[in-house]
Amino acid sequence: MKNNLKIYCCPVCGSIAIASGNMKPCCCGDALMALPEKAAATTPAISEMDGEMLIEYNVPMTKSDYIAAVAVERYDRVVLIPLFPEQAPQVRIADTTRATLYTVFRRNGEAWAEKLAL
Ligand SMILES: [Zn+2]
Repeated sequence: MKNNLKIYCCPVCGSIAIASGNMKPCCCGDALMALPEKAAATTPAISEMDGEMLIEYNVPMTKSDYIAAVAVERYDRVVLIPLFPEQAPQVRIADTTRATLYTVFRRNGEAWAEKLAL
């Protein structure tokens, strides 16, 4: 991958899509725009647990303010993990070596992705 992942979030149903190139996804009858990307304002704690990497955030997970997904992009793959309100704000990833972490936030209908090089 060339570190150019684009993330889409349907404002109607909340579905998440990722793309590594140019595409024009649609959902619920409308074309989706790639989410605005921000430098990481939220830094998760990352630790090893049972041979995997545990990525934990200290953020609310309410129905109007939550992490909707975490994507990890490595040189050879992309992993997308959807999250839901009232779920623990954490994910487990096999390997985060030289990865880029994308965290998709949804707050009061607004959605954006924060990007962090690991
Ligand atoms: Zn939709």
